[in-house]
Amino acid sequence: MKALVTGGAGFIGSHLAQALADAGHEVHVLDNLSSGKAEWVPGQAVLHVLELNSPELHELVGRIRPEVVFHLAAQADVQRSIADPAFDAQVNITGTVSLLDACRKSAVRRFVFASTSGVYGDSVHEKLSEDIPAAPISYYGQSKLAAEGYIRIFHKLYGLPYTILRYGNVYGPRQTPKGEGGVVAVFLQQLRRGQPITIHGDGGQTRDFVYVRDVVEANLAAAASTGCGLYHVSTGRSTTIRQLAELIRETRSAPVPVLFGEARPGDIRHSCLDNRRAQEELAWSPRYRIADGLRETCAAFLA
Ligand code: NAD
Repeated sequence: MKALVTGGAGFIGSHLAQALADAGHEVHVLDNLSSGKAEWVPGQAVLHVLELNSPELHELVGRIRPEVVFHLAAQADVQRSIADPAFDAQVNITGTVSLLDACRKSAVRRFVFASTSGVYGDSVHEKLSEDIPAAPISYYGQSKLAAEGYIRIFHKLYGLPYTILRYGNVYGPRQTPKGEGGVVAVFLQQLRRGQPITIHGDGGQTRDFVYVRDVVEANLAAAASTGCGLYHVSTGRSTTIRQLAELIRETRSAPVPVLFGEARPGDIRHSCLDNRRAQEELAWSPRYRIADGLRETCAAFLA
């Protein structure tokens, strides 16, 4: 397969680009390197340093003629979206629309989109199914939701096949504290600096932490699928922030102190995504238990 990975120099995209290259596919990476790093792009892939919104985008996609486009490039920082909603919309909405337009003109076989549990906002549901109405509470969640809408309309008008994947909190090597699953990277950064792990609030908040290698597998399953749909890429399990801190402590031989700080306003209390649809329709399920994923992540961060 000939694949284009936008955001392929970033945390999740670089793992995906590597897996595609390892499987013998021709891989092109489009990235403006705003948060990604050129050295994370696998040696077998071709890196195109380009801005999503640039006028050369159409020409590039037309020249590569990828069969599958994995669209991960994004402004993925929730706090930045609050500070600068216009920039967030420019990258996540306008950038996605430009790419979709280029894809339909180049007869791309499938468009796979990285969306987020952030579209649900602060839901009262203990476990969210894909049918629960989205109600974002950040501009980032809103811009991702808007992009999903454009994808569906490009499909309706031009038949561009798509798979939308709403990820839980993704963690793993190369993750940065600013990303959505940021808490793992924040705790590991504190450990690396010899500081105590600091939990905001009582630590009873829960998240659905999914390991980056499982997210890569979900993208590969999406590329091989035939229908069009929306799927959760998650473990379907809740982990409290306190449990997360405990699991990280268990990976260390020396004792690690834990402190409790002020709760942060606007923090979502609980987030857990039902993944049964992806299991049934994409034949994908997460393979990593959180303890195993964290062990690999800690080893990479603290090496
Ligand atoms: P990341 O910031 O590491 O990766 C994003 C990549 O996109 C970076 O390499 C960056 O340089 C590139 N980029 C940003 N703006 C660009 C632009 N205008 N033109 C070209 N390239 C641009 O983030 P990540 O955590 O790897 O996230 C990847 C995708 O997954 C994003 O779409 C994000 O919204 C989504 N997502 C991530 C999580 C998570 O927990 N990390 C959860 C849900 C969804």
